[in-house]
Amino acid sequence: MFDNLSDKLEATFKKLAGQATINEINIGIAMRDIKRALLNADVNYKVAKKLVDDIREKSLGEQVLKSVSPAQMIVKIVNDELTDLMGGEHQPLNLSPKKLPAIIMVAGLQGSGKTTFCAKLAKRLKKNGKNPMLVAADVYRPAAVDQLRTLGEQVDVPVFSIDEQDAMKAAVKGLEAARLAAKDVVIIDTAGRLQIDEKMMAEAEALKHALKPDELLFVVDSMMGQEAVNTAKAFNDRLDFDGVVLTKLDGDARGGAALSIRQVVEKPIKFISVGEKVDDLDLFYPDRMAQRILGMGDIVSFVEKAQETLDLEKTLEMQKKLMKNEFDLNDFFDQLQQLKKMGSIQGLISMVPGLNKMVPKQEIENLDFKPIEAMINSMTKQEKTNPEIINGSRRQRIAKGSGTRVQEVNMLLKQFGEMKKMMRSVTKLSQSGRKITSQN
Ligand code: GDP
Repeated sequence: MFDNLSDKLEATFKKLAGQATINEINIGIAMRDIKRALLNADVNYKVAKKLVDDIREKSLGEQVLKSVSPAQMIVKIVNDELTDLMGGEHQPLNLSPKKLPAIIMVAGLQGSGKTTFCAKLAKRLKKNGKNPMLVAADVYRPAAVDQLRTLGEQVDVPVFSIDEQDAMKAAVKGLEAARLAAKDVVIIDTAGRLQIDEKMMAEAEALKHALKPDELLFVVDSMMGQEAVNTAKAFNDRLDFDGVVLTKLDGDARGGAALSIRQVVEKPIKFISVGEKVDDLDLFYPDRMAQRILGMGDIVSFVEKAQETLDLEKTLEMQKKLMKNEFDLNDFFDQLQQLKKMGSIQGLISMVPGLNKMVPKQEIENLDFKPIEAMINSMTKQEKTNPEIINGSRRQRIAKGSGTRVQEVNMLLKQFGEMKKMMRSVTKLSQSGRKITSQN
């Protein structure tokens, strides 16, 4: 899934990774490449254009944090824009808790994977503690009813059907049966045709009107690419559905429908189906999908952490001091407080082999700053800038002055030494971060 797009985006980022700064020219080239990659993935032209324009604007406008490379920053921007494009937040099913049973109506073209989806959804709801019933309102194809029956048995959910070719009657009676059986959700599988036609639309419309479903889900085969988007639009214009189910993503190498449908139809993708088996159904998370497309989750979280860390500029200043050997115990104190504030540094640290062992997370979280502050305050200026001179008698004096024990002073000085080591590694980390991009 998305293999080609992922490869092409990766190649674009690789080119950018060699650049020290972001400017109109290299961004221009990168955006042209990204747009091509999107169009190749069968993304709707307007959607691709808007996406690339947004990425360009953000890339040129955003201040690139010193700790991350321009290429890393752009990976993050592309990631965020892709997430937005696909709808931002995950949109869950919206079932009314008051109306029982809650009604889910499922519509789509024949062969889209509608019936299979109904059974998968029933299984998922059951697993989540619901008591669902399936209703076969795809009454024109006897095979469809049989198929739903077989699937219903497989997922151990009852299936209601009638012998007449009357979808409305099947749905209404099914609803009654569900009420009688005290079911809390009914999933109604409606008829599909090979192509959009007036009769099918009119029937679906009438069913929607009569049933007033909590959720009207539109099922579409992602392998149809832009045709999937067009079909979704036609259905939505007529039915104003609540959400989309994208099926057969397992066979979709391009991904254009997944990327375009939300923008074009303005309805959220709620589920994705990734195989023929009854368990092959996932909730749709735009952010996870974006990361899957980019295949660069490590860089995205790296930049996120750097962004979260507002005092990063200060850290960098410290690093400079450190390199010039001007890093003293006052700076150390500042840094400790920062470390505590940003538990997320652990994420950064964990990316450097060996470094995570040096400063265990718990040690940071459990740090009590008062005695540290007192100890540092009991030091002379000379001692703060030059801790090597703090010998045994000075340690005793500091302990006394700060109301602590000599062991604590020893510990502080040891931690200071380790912090110096760690900060050197963090400096290396920002360089290795750059390497991550250029190696990819
Ligand atoms: P309907 O006509 O819309 O009800 O479609 P069906 O549920 O009968 O599905 C049509 C075919 O697509 C069946 O062979 C399904 O097994 C298959 N199918 C459904 N969903 C998926 C999926 O996510 N991935 C794959 N590979 N096949 C699927």
